[in-house]
Amino acid sequence: MNEQQQSHSSHGPQHGFETLAIHAGQEPDPHTGAVVPPIYQVSTYKQDGVGGMRNGYEYSRSANPTRTALEENVAALESGRRGLAFASGLAAEDCVLRTLLKPDDHVIIPDDAYGGTFRLFSKVVERWGIEWSVANTSDPAAVRAQLRDRTKLIWVETPSNPVLGITDIAVMAEVAHTAGARLVVDNTFASPYLQQPLTLGADVVVHSTTKYMGGHSDVVGGALVVNEDALGEELAFHQNSIGGVAGPFDSWLVMRGIKTLGVRMDRHCSNASRVAELLEAHPRVSQVYYPGLPSHPGHEVAVKQMRAFGGMVSFRLREGERAALEVCDRTKVFTLGESLGGVESLIEHPGKMTHASTEGSALEVPSDLVRLSVGIESIDDLLADLAQALG
Ligand code: PLP
Repeated sequence: MNEQQQSHSSHGPQHGFETLAIHAGQEPDPHTGAVVPPIYQVSTYKQDGVGGMRNGYEYSRSANPTRTALEENVAALESGRRGLAFASGLAAEDCVLRTLLKPDDHVIIPDDAYGGTFRLFSKVVERWGIEWSVANTSDPAAVRAQLRDRTKLIWVETPSNPVLGITDIAVMAEVAHTAGARLVVDNTFASPYLQQPLTLGADVVVHSTTKYMGGHSDVVGGALVVNEDALGEELAFHQNSIGGVAGPFDSWLVMRGIKTLGVRMDRHCSNASRVAELLEAHPRVSQVYYPGLPSHPGHEVAVKQMRAFGGMVSFRLREGERAALEVCDRTKVFTLGESLGGVESLIEHPGKMTHASTEGSALEVPSDLVRLSVGIESIDDLLADLAQALG
């Protein structure tokens, strides 16, 4: 673990990542000693007289103790000062955009990003009078070329969805700050176990906690983490004003998932690197996208800023779209499905599934592309399944 990955918590003494994952924000319940935070399935709280809020809780959209436990935990894992939990990753993204942008502002978005993020910019945010440009964020010169006086935000996904592009977070933070803009990093693919963007200069970290943080394909959620107290307050104001908060049970499920994030990620990473090697050697595969492969153009930056390279692998078929669709239909251990980051392996066709909304845009994905979310099953079963599906 390098120094950057020694997590520092604003909630107590310095601890290692796995210790924080299990304990940050998770003090035993003061009333019962329960070692797991209870699910406070409650909407409102008895007040000590008019205006006399008890322990900071008055209404669960504004704050709920189970959600607070998750928010403190996620903040600690990202080495941040303030965490906020949402009903989905997109609700978290929406909150960032409404907090940081106003009409006539300009934002730079990556040329490879989750299709839903692109749809939020191109179909929703644009209608508020916000202009966006697309750039290859792996190339700082390409981003600089898109900067305007009105640029307020640079949005980055690293590794990106679905082609695992790598952006140098420290360099991009400098590009943004020199231009008077803020850098937002979607850290969903890496999770804070592999990479902590705030320690590299990012201003806001975004998560779809639906993915690795939850880790079991049983909850939809999102999170934001920041280091600036004032920005944290502004985001919390918008979180409460817009209202897309994480419910108590969903918060609890994400927390339960986070406790094993480190061990799960270790297995995701080792399985994915074996899968990437198999695919790279396969004659039907024309290209493999995995930042752990020395052939990946972002490999060196990934080595610098990540602990390991994650559980996502994408690849292209020499024979085109039909072959890609056939492979998606043929796997048996890899389940055909959207989403990612759960313990079970998933396969999908981004062009027709997760990234269908990018068709005809600068973010359109190749039609011969297949994306794998490599789970934590026995590696021999995963390799055998892909080998039989590829024929
Ligand atoms: N960011 C990334 C990288 C994603 O892959 C996703 C969903 O797939 C999201 C954000 C949106 O998250 P959610 O589906 O929880 O709204």
